[in-house]
This record gives sequence, C-alpha cells and structure tokens, in this order.
Amino acid sequence: MSILFCKLSLKSKTMNILKELDRQVFKDRFPCKKDCYEFLAELKWADGYNCKRCPSDTFIKGKQPASRRCSKCGFDESTTSGTLFHKLKFGIDKAFEMLYEIATSKKGANSIWLAEHFGVNQKTAWLFRQKVQLAMKSSEQYPLENEVHVDEFEIGTPQAGEQGRSKSDKKVRIVIAFEYRDGKSGRGYAKVIEDYSAKSLAPIFATHVKNDAQVLADGWSGYSPLKENYPNLKQTLSNKGKNFKMLHIQIRNFKNWLRGVHSYCNKEYLQKYIDEYFFRFNRRSHRKSILGKIIERCVEHQPTTFNEIKCYAT
Ligand SMILES: [Zn+2]
Repeated sequence: MSILFCKLSLKSKTMNILKELDRQVFKDRFPCKKDCYEFLAELKWADGYNCKRCPSDTFIKGKQPASRRCSKCGFDESTTSGTLFHKLKFGIDKAFEMLYEIATSKKGANSIWLAEHFGVNQKTAWLFRQKVQLAMKSSEQYPLENEVHVDEFEIGTPQAGEQGRSKSDKKVRIVIAFEYRDGKSGRGYAKVIEDYSAKSLAPIFATHVKNDAQVLADGWSGYSPLKENYPNLKQTLSNKGKNFKMLHIQIRNFKNWLRGVHSYCNKEYLQKYIDEYFFRFNRRSHRKSILGKIIERCVEHQPTTFNEIKCYAT
C-alpha cells in the first residue's frame, strides 16, 4: 500500500467525523478547545510533519495545545499558524461554533448575527466571516461541462427609463454560468464584471467552463468572439428570459439569498458573497460535508489580515 494512500485515509477518517453533523453531535465532538486544536492538528499534518525551520521530520509534543515541537531545532509550531485560524481574536471553540452556524444555517449567518450571538464586536465577526469566504472560493479545478447556460444580470436600483444592458454605475453587473444535466440544474458559478464586453465575459469561461461544453447564450454580440475557444457555443434569442427559464430561476434564488442574508453588500465585496453562495449551492446534495470542507479549506489557506482582506476587495 502506498504512503500516499495511508495519508489520504487518515484525512478522510478525520473528515468523516463531520459528515453526520447535527448540533448535538457537533457539541459532543468539540466540547472544548483541546478537541478543536487536535482536530486542526490532524488536518494540518495529515500529509506528514516537516519542520518549518530545519529539514527534520520528527517532532515531540509542543507547549501549546496539539502543537508540534521539532525534535532537532526545538521550533514549536502551533496548529493555527500558517492557516486562516492564525491570530483569532476569540477562542478556537467559538470559531468552530461560528463555522457550524455559517455552514448549517440556511441563510448563512451574517456578521451582525454572529457578533450578537457570540458576543464579539462586529468588525471582528465581519473579518472572520470574510476569511471564511476566502476559504469558500472555488478551487477552479472542476469546470462546468456538458450543457452550460450563460447569462448576465444586475444588482442595484434600476434607473428610470432604462432597458436592456445598462451602462449605469449604480448597478453591479454579474455573469452567471450554470450546468444542466438531464433537464436539471447542476453546478453554477458567477463573476462580477465591469461591462458586457467579450473581454469582461471571457474570464468566467476560462475559469469555469470546459472548452468542449455545449454552451448556450443569448444573442448579445459580446459572446460571439468567445466562439473561437468555445466551438460549441450557440446563441439564441432570450425571448424575455423564456429560453433561459431555469437559469433565471437560479438568478432569482441568488438575488433573494443576497437580499435576505446580507441586506447591504458593498460592491467591492460582492464577489466573495457570490463565491460563498456557490460553494454552498454546489454542495447542496451533500450539505453535511460542508462544515468539514470549510474547516479543511481554512487550514489549507494562508493566514490573512484585515488590511489584506481590504486589498482583496479592491
Ligand atoms: Zn526543526
């Protein structure tokens, strides 16, 4: 049996614990900080331990909970260093509880609710939530395939007398791509775009749509140049959305979610809310694995600060 297989087994064993996760199971699994740190340690070093300061791969128990101390140079590495859990302003047990709420609540637990419920200040809750959204960003490894429908929509106040594709700066423009299988909606992705030019529409294709997919878009001229890389891209008249009925249902669902959960969403941060929505949506048939996946992603993601989060948004 290969070493890789052993490592994978260890990781999936750790993740399996979180698969059947109702609230009581969660509380029993993580009754205190020690259990959370041990869980992080199992994930962090699932592929084996290597000292960050020297070539050693052996360790002894460190001073901090579940930390590992290099048996050669003595460097003590915590379970949270090098992860999104680095330098949290509240306990790791509280972080796990917040993640549970974010992962399991239908609306996704916004930062105002988290701040009130967990007794932390709102900026702290907001920053943590932003970090979690970074962890929810698509890995971009599984582009949509087969039948894919693409369209754009806007969020914001409609301007009087405006019809069709607007040029208003008060609106945020979004392009959305959805996969269809056997007449049903599959996975989806969306991106904030500056305008409706081919240059702005191209990135969602490059990132999220397979080149041989059967893509259907409306008659907008911005899609035509994309046919060079997407030979199966076909265009049809939208007929006021009637030819993209299922896609428009998905757009409506997304807008309702955004309105209900995050009543005010800054344009700069909208992409992250979109990423969060589709992270959850694309896992809707195995919801119970969402919490485990978020924790795993938080462990794998490099640490980030308030200032960096602000930079990501610009
Ligand atoms: Zn060392």
